[in-house]
Order: sequence, then C-alpha cells, then structure tokens
Amino acid sequence: MRIPCPYCGWRDAQEFAYLGDATVERPDPAAADAPARFHDYVYLRENPAGPHSELWRHSAGCRQWLAVRRDTTTHEIIAAEFVRGRGARR
Ligand SMILES: [Zn+2]
Repeated sequence: MRIPCPYCGWRDAQEFAYLGDATVERPDPAAADAPARFHDYVYLRENPAGPHSELWRHSAGCRQWLAVRRDTTTHEIIAAEFVRGRGARR
C-alpha cells in the first residue's frame, strides 16, 4: 500500500506509523463518568468495511501526522491531509 504524503508525495506504507481511528475524540477527564468513557476510548473500536478515517505518522519521512481516508476493503487511499491546522480530529 502507498500513502500520498502532502509534503513528500507517494510513499510506501512501511514509512508510516499507524495510530488508529481518526474519528474518536479524547473524553473529558473531569466528566463524572470519565473512567467508563476512557475505557471505551482506549479499548472499543469499530471495524468498518469501506471508507474510514485514520491517523498515520510519516515517521520515516517528514514526521508529520496525516489524516488518511482509506477504503478498508480495497486499501484505496481516498484522501490524505496534514492533521495540524485542520482543527479537531475527525
Ligand atoms: Zn511526509
């Protein structure tokens, strides 16, 4: 699989580190139910078939974090953009 880094261009996926789902948001640690929310945040993940938003770091390149939209059934990369400057994780 190849990933298009906006800075470096198309690169092999082995140059990247996969963080995971880009759609989850870190819970508020001050919330009354914070332990349960953090459990879900850390351990419960969807396993979607089809387009999915993921976080990848170009660790062997420019070291930037990318938000990558990828079809999990075909590995087609639909979009890739820098996370920095785009606001909250989606
Ligand atoms: Zn890069």
